[in-house]
Amino acid sequence: MSFSEFSLTPEIVRSVHERGYREATPIQSGAIPPAIAGRDLVATAETGSGKTAAYLIPLLDHLNRSRAGGKRAHGISALVLVPTRELAIQVAREFAGLARHSRAKAAVIMGGDSMSRQLHDLRSGAQVLIACPGRLIDHLERATVSLGKVEMVVIDEADRLLDMGFLPQLRRVMRTLPKPRQTLMFSATMASGVRQIANEFLSNPARVSIGEKAAPPPSIQQSVYPATAESKGPMLLELLKDGDVESAIVFTRTKSRADRVAKLLTRNGIKAVAIHGDRSQSQRNAALGGFRARTYRVMVATDLAARGIDIPHVSHVINFDLPDETENYIHRIGRTARMGKSGHAFSLVTPEERVSLARIERALGGDLERERLAGFDAPEITAPRPVKLFRSVSMGRRSSRGSRRATWA
Ligand code: ADP
Ligand code: MG
Repeated sequence: MSFSEFSLTPEIVRSVHERGYREATPIQSGAIPPAIAGRDLVATAETGSGKTAAYLIPLLDHLNRSRAGGKRAHGISALVLVPTRELAIQVAREFAGLARHSRAKAAVIMGGDSMSRQLHDLRSGAQVLIACPGRLIDHLERATVSLGKVEMVVIDEADRLLDMGFLPQLRRVMRTLPKPRQTLMFSATMASGVRQIANEFLSNPARVSIGEKAAPPPSIQQSVYPATAESKGPMLLELLKDGDVESAIVFTRTKSRADRVAKLLTRNGIKAVAIHGDRSQSQRNAALGGFRARTYRVMVATDLAARGIDIPHVSHVINFDLPDETENYIHRIGRTARMGKSGHAFSLVTPEERVSLARIERALGGDLERERLAGFDAPEITAPRPVKLFRSVSMGRRSSRGSRRATWA
C-alpha cells in the first residue's frame, strides 16, 4: 500500500518519500488507519518490520492536525515509552527523519545521559517525549517534566519492557497520564504480560497482528556448528575468515565473555568492539556508532543489544553462546536480514547447551541444519533425555516432543 492512500497530512507524505519509503510495510498498512482514526491499538509484528514508523506516522499526523486546527502545542502532547537507551536513540533518529517537514520537536529522556541536556531539550519546546521509564520517573519526581497535556502514548517493545522488569514503572507512568488519551502498544510478541497490559491501559483497542507468532524471517539461513568449550574461539576466528561475513554481531552469554571474545578478535586483527550493560553510555554509543559506520566489522554483544537495534548491513549473527530463552534467539537473529534482505545466523553449540538448542528447535518447529568446519571436531549433540518409546502410547504432548528428539541422534 502506498503512503499517499492513507489521507495523511502532506508534510508526512513528503518526509516518508524523502526517507525512501515507497510502500507501507504490512504492519504499517494495518496500524496506520486505526491509529489515525484515533483508536487505541495493539500491534504485533516481527522485528525489522517497520513498527517505529507505524506509530510515528500517526503520531506526527496527529500533531500536524492539532497545529493546523489552531490548537497551540504547548507542553508534551505525545509520549513514546521504550525499554532501552539504544532504542530511544533509534526512535529519535526515525522521528527526526519523519518530522523533517513538520515543526514537531522531540526530547529524549534516558538514563546514563546528561540530565541538564535533557532538561534543555524539554524546555526548548518539545511536543514529543521519547523516554525510558526509569529516568522518566526521576523527572516526574523532580517535577522537571509534566505529562498533564499528553494526548497520545506509545508503548514500544512492550514485551521487552516487561522482560526487563519495568512493569511497576510502566504502571506508574500510565497512571499519571490524563484521560481521555489515545494509547498505542507495539510488541514483537504477544506474551501473556503484554495482553495484560493491554487490558489494563487500553480501551477497546483495534488489534493488528502480522505473522501469528514471533518467527524469524524465512530469509535468514540458520545453522548450528557443534563445538566444544575450547573450540568456540578458534571456530569463530575461522568463520570470520570468510569474506562473505561482511558485518557480524556475535552474541555471548555474559558481559565478561563479550569482553573476552572482543579481545580475542582484536588480537587476531579483526576490528571488533563489545557492547553490554557494564560499559558506560558513551562507550555503548561509540560501539554502536562505530559498528554502524563499519569502523568495526564485528560487534560482540550480550542480549542487551538483541532487540530493536536496526543496522541494515549486518550480514551475520553468530551465537557464540546460545541464549537460554527461545525468544532471545529469535530477536538476536532478527538483527540480520532487515527489510527483506537475506542473512545468516550461525550458532556454536556445545553438548552442554543441548537443552537450550532443543527448546529453540521445538519453538521453530524443526531441526536446524548442522554444519561442520574443516579441521574441527564436531561433538555429537544428543537429545537431553533418552527417548522412551513406550511413553508414546499415553502421553500425548510428551510423545510428540520425544519423537522430535529422536531425530537428532
Ligand atoms: P521494528 O521496530 O519492527 O523492529 P524498525 O521500525 O526498526 O522495525 O524498522 C526497520 C527498518 O525498516 C528501519 O531501517 C526503517 O528505516 C525501515 N523501514 C521502515 N518502514 C519502511 C518502509 N515502509 N519502507 C522501507 N523501509 C522501511
Ligand atoms: Mg521496534
